[in-house]
Amino acid sequence: MDAAMIEGRHESGIYAKRGLTLVAGSGARVMDEEGRTYLDCIGGHGVASVGHANPDVVAAIQEQANRLITCPGSFHNDVRARYIERLLGRFPRSFRRVFLCNSGTEAVEGALKIARYHTGRTGFVAAKRGFHGRTFGALSVTWNHRQGFEPLVPGVRHVPFGDPAALEAAIDHDTAALILEVVQGEGGVHVAPAGYLARAEAICRERGALLVIDEVQTGFARIGEWFAFQRDGIEPDLVCLAKAMGGGVPMGAVVMTEALGALRPGVHGSTFGGNPLACAAASAVLDYLEKEQMPETVRRRGAKLFEHLRAIDAPVIRDVRGLGLMVGIELRTRVTPFLKALQDRGILALAAGPTVLRLLPPLVISESELDEVVAGISAVLKGAGV
Ligand SMILES: *Cc1c(COP(=O)(O)O)cnc(C)c1O
Repeated sequence: MDAAMIEGRHESGIYAKRGLTLVAGSGARVMDEEGRTYLDCIGGHGVASVGHANPDVVAAIQEQANRLITCPGSFHNDVRARYIERLLGRFPRSFRRVFLCNSGTEAVEGALKIARYHTGRTGFVAAKRGFHGRTFGALSVTWNHRQGFEPLVPGVRHVPFGDPAALEAAIDHDTAALILEVVQGEGGVHVAPAGYLARAEAICRERGALLVIDEVQTGFARIGEWFAFQRDGIEPDLVCLAKAMGGGVPMGAVVMTEALGALRPGVHGSTFGGNPLACAAASAVLDYLEKEQMPETVRRRGAKLFEHLRAIDAPVIRDVRGLGLMVGIELRTRVTPFLKALQDRGILALAAGPTVLRLLPPLVISESELDEVVAGISAVLKGAGV
């Protein structure tokens, strides 16, 4: 069987392929069909935080698969209940309710609907360069990728990221919610400037709009905090989660504050959301992150990685930025040829826009593996003309 040939002919065509067929993984490495291994700094776009084939997650999935894989939301379930309790345990006490779904875009859809439901308002404010997903609601608050798909959800305003004055001007008494990332991922790895999110929170409170923080990429210790909003000391009304949540099993969530109260039965739903298989995997992920004291571990590994990356003396590098193990290296030229060169050296990295080289390695990546990554990046970038 030739996977490349079959997928090339019969998949939808929406993905630019990397010319590699991956068949296995372990920890921070993946393996292609010829048995060659790669250090995986794509990590399934930040999904594989606890590493590929994490034994704790594998065991949890196997055990739960033998007991009960699916269970509708209209029935209680032991594994789901335990997970909800554990997840809320990682949040400030004001967070009391959870909607479980299966992806990041679904979490954002849920948050937008819940914001309209609670406020009775229709408008949304979002940031330029922000990314929130590909379905119509999430796409409407996303900055790129919208062209050709209008008409979208009406009433969305986009403001420059990091500019409190623009929020003052855009958030009004028809704004249901402001949605922001703490670190814009797809948009180029831009960290919210100090004080920006606190101002955003204050403006939302003052005008009666809800604050939605999209932690689909930054959540679960990626930036060296359990959740990135905690770094800024803010308390959003809704937090969107997905990517690393299920250890590779599709899963997403909206976590809500107690002040919002419960939703009425029937106003939203999901067939697969909160299925026991995903909840079992996600519980194993939380256990593992706790056991490894992952937020602190990520801060330590990330600090070293940034130090080494910033020491690379290559004129093609314009900027190195990010938090924890979420890294963007902005280049003075297009990034694609460098991704290819790294891949040829056994390192998988991804882009964030046309000129930013992004790293989202599994959080379990070792210091010596990170040294390999830095050496590869250094070799590839040092040779580059500007
Ligand atoms: C990836 C991502 C999404 C969309 O998640 P999907 O699971 O691909 O739908 C939404 N928001 C952010 C910040 C993301 O990084």
